[in-house]
Amino acid sequence: MTHIITSLCLRDSGCVEVCPVECIVPGKPQEQWPLFYIDPDTCIDCGACVPECPYAAIFPEDEVPAAYTAKGGEFISRSGLTGHYKGVDHHGNDVVLSEAKQLAKGEIVDLSGDIKFNYDYFKKGPGYNAK
Ligand code: SF4
Ligand code: SF4
Repeated sequence: MTHIITSLCLRDSGCVEVCPVECIVPGKPQEQWPLFYIDPDTCIDCGACVPECPYAAIFPEDEVPAAYTAKGGEFISRSGLTGHYKGVDHHGNDVVLSEAKQLAKGEIVDLSGDIKFNYDYFKKGPGYNAK
């Protein structure tokens, strides 16, 4: 198994530093791959990255919700969305995502498709645009 970073990722990058096996990488190119990804062959499922994510974007693979219920106000970032997210990451650098959407309280989102995106990123290589 592995842990999965979902579309709730807003490129904070805090998870990268706590991973003991250094298997979390930023997607490239940044404008097409707004998520970070976890190498499923290297991840040891220690769970250290989960509490580090300020957006609660990381789940064990078998717990990625197919029906995530929004608390309200959080963003998701996916190709095709037309909203705009602007914030700062763990290091204080600007993060701008042009394909994002702010969720309303109670809105239900399927995050399970992010499992395939994560596997494809390592199988097909950076730049493969599954979205
Ligand atoms: S800490 Fe969360 S938001 Fe930041 S890169 Fe990791 S998964 Fe994405
Ligand atoms: S679960 Fe552990 S090994 Fe896997 S990505 Fe998170 S910190 Fe790294």
